[in-house]
Amino acid sequence: MILSGKELAARRKVEMAVQVQELERAYGRVPHLAVILLGDDAGSVSYVTGKARNASEVGIRSTTIRKPSTTSEQELLELLDTLNEDTEVDGILVQLPLPPHIDTDKVISRIRVEKDVDGFHPLNVAALWQNTKGLTPCTPRGIIRLLDEAGVEIAGKRAVVVGRSMIVGLPVSKLLLDRNATVTIAHSKTVDLGAVTREADILVVAIGRPKLITADMVKPGAVVIDVGVTRDANNKLSGDVDFTNVEPLVSVITPVPGGVGPMTICCLLENTIDTFLFTHASL
Ligand code: NAP
Repeated sequence: MILSGKELAARRKVEMAVQVQELERAYGRVPHLAVILLGDDAGSVSYVTGKARNASEVGIRSTTIRKPSTTSEQELLELLDTLNEDTEVDGILVQLPLPPHIDTDKVISRIRVEKDVDGFHPLNVAALWQNTKGLTPCTPRGIIRLLDEAGVEIAGKRAVVVGRSMIVGLPVSKLLLDRNATVTIAHSKTVDLGAVTREADILVVAIGRPKLITADMVKPGAVVIDVGVTRDANNKLSGDVDFTNVEPLVSVITPVPGGVGPMTICCLLENTIDTFLFTHASL
């Protein structure tokens, strides 16, 4: 079964469009997402454009604020202060990576926690690990949604997550643990990665190395979620899994592109609606 995040995201967007109309009727305005982009890196421009397009598809208002890559840290922090105070802005996202002269942790911490649609603010990270209310990072949330959509039973399964970044590997490990999987986290220092990945009923790979996971590293019948997005030697978009040779062996696999990526954007829109509801619940 090839698990299409594109199709699931399309279905969820239809439902969200209805929800957004209901919110407008109830509260007099639609949720509003502000996205800040520094510089003109082609990849970042494309991600930001995709976020704005998807927001408009469901009726969420989005504002993209573009600044030169030379923007000072202070100027960016002041812009965040303004957006934090703006009662018409529900979600705030700073497109990463930031230029090297800017302290990314300082910037993320400056976003008001209730508006942190990426779920990267330290208090949202703490909420995830302490099982309290907070915003969950979009890619991990999207991965769990994909597993649920495929009807994959998570509880009791052995899950292996390859990668331990704050954006994907660690939070998705925690979400799998919350669903009662037994979770192993592998990384660049793991000795004999194949021996670990072959144990996985559910294998989530978030490395950023094209086709690193080969057929001999996967347990037959496993569920494989490929988060990696890189360009191979021919500049073709590639995942971390050798899809052609792994797909015939496994029960479920996500393609790249069209797997986790669309669900990340879908969950960003869900988080934006959540930030709106948070504000309005306190009215
Ligand atoms: P990252 O911060 O660079 O983390 C990569 C992780 O992979 C690290 O934990 C690293 O281990 C591990 N790793 C590197 N080489 C390895 C190897 N040979 N064997 C085992 N583990 C290895 O990357 P990230 O932000 O998590 O992103 C990972 C990939 O997912 C990238 O391709 C990114 O573009 C993609 N991504 C996709 C989406 C989406 O929506 N589809 C969203 C986010 C990210 P150490 O910790 O030991 O260094």
